[in-house]
Amino acid sequence: MTRTRPLPRDDLRALEGYHSPQVDVDVRLNTNESPYAPPAAFVERWLEALRTVEWNRYPDRAATELRTALGAFLGQSPARLLCGNGSNEILQTLLLTYGGAGRRALMFEPTYALHAQIARGTGTEVVEGERRTDYTIDPDDATSTIEQCRPAVVFVCTPNNPTGTVESRATVERLAGAAADVGAVLVVDEAYGEFAQWSALELVSDDVPLTVVRTYSKVWSLAGARLGFAVAPTWMIGQLEKVLLPYNLSVPTQVAGTIALEFASEMEQRVATLVEERGRLFAALADADGIDVCPSGANFLMLRVAGDAHELWKRLLARNVLVRDFSSWPRIEGCLRVTVGTPEENDAFLGALGEALPEVVR
Ligand code: PMP
Repeated sequence: MTRTRPLPRDDLRALEGYHSPQVDVDVRLNTNESPYAPPAAFVERWLEALRTVEWNRYPDRAATELRTALGAFLGQSPARLLCGNGSNEILQTLLLTYGGAGRRALMFEPTYALHAQIARGTGTEVVEGERRTDYTIDPDDATSTIEQCRPAVVFVCTPNNPTGTVESRATVERLAGAAADVGAVLVVDEAYGEFAQWSALELVSDDVPLTVVRTYSKVWSLAGARLGFAVAPTWMIGQLEKVLLPYNLSVPTQVAGTIALEFASEMEQRVATLVEERGRLFAALADADGIDVCPSGANFLMLRVAGDAHELWKRLLARNVLVRDFSSWPRIEGCLRVTVGTPEENDAFLGALGEALPEVVR
């Protein structure tokens, strides 16, 4: 037997895995999950529905019930919906379909790290576009970048992770037009869309090469279920379905996604509470000496520290509060990101920050 260890693809050798440390702490504000469990009545309904499942059979490949219910909820045709195991699977399917070897994906940095990571995993060349100093995308600049690099896929994350920045409708329309001119797909990642004032869902039509990607992980309090979806032109869904693995969505996931929609008013209540708490946190951070906080349309806030941000992250952790450390990321050096938690968690964060900040601020 030969003893040559198989090597991954040449273009994957330099790739590092995606890391977001999961540490056991009292106050976990690092991964933008919902701090609230879904309603107990949802869990009851879901478990009840699972009793009658034919477990020896594959799930419905087309996720018909889920797509019908979700389409009705969103006011979209089910033919415009594609569901996957988290929106990450949807992003991967988009890149497998429209990206790949010899093609490019454009994203405006700093943004969600997995756009570049999944692009690389699918052999798609990554092109990094820039943002303005307030982290919004300059539509003129973006249009010329699109014309020059002729990407197959353009990502715009709004509200943007990790900055929280919301793009205007005018910017998204300009990007969609520029993408259409070069035959690219514009992927609008709205993982945090429900926390913002407007949604690009209203721009989805069969005439525009634009898809909006959303998730049940945040506002629906179902990160553990792994469910995300794309709302896209019907012709795009047809192409994506060729690439998606058959029976990708388990029965429990499909059922969870369908039943969750019956609890939409509870979801809206949770979102309203978090938006209110975001306002309270923003005001407190804006008042703090040595902190510059970014306006956010999401369930998190990015803050720049006038001092050693990594040291601050460590000192918050020592006080049992975990936030996300972006202090060594290009373009957002010195920044941390805090997820909006329950009022109690936010108080714990502010308390720990009040103690730790003076120790690190220059
Ligand atoms: N897009 C963005 C911008 C995100 O922040 C996340 C989760 N952190 C995702 C997509 C993926 O979410 P999920 O796979 O849980 O749906």
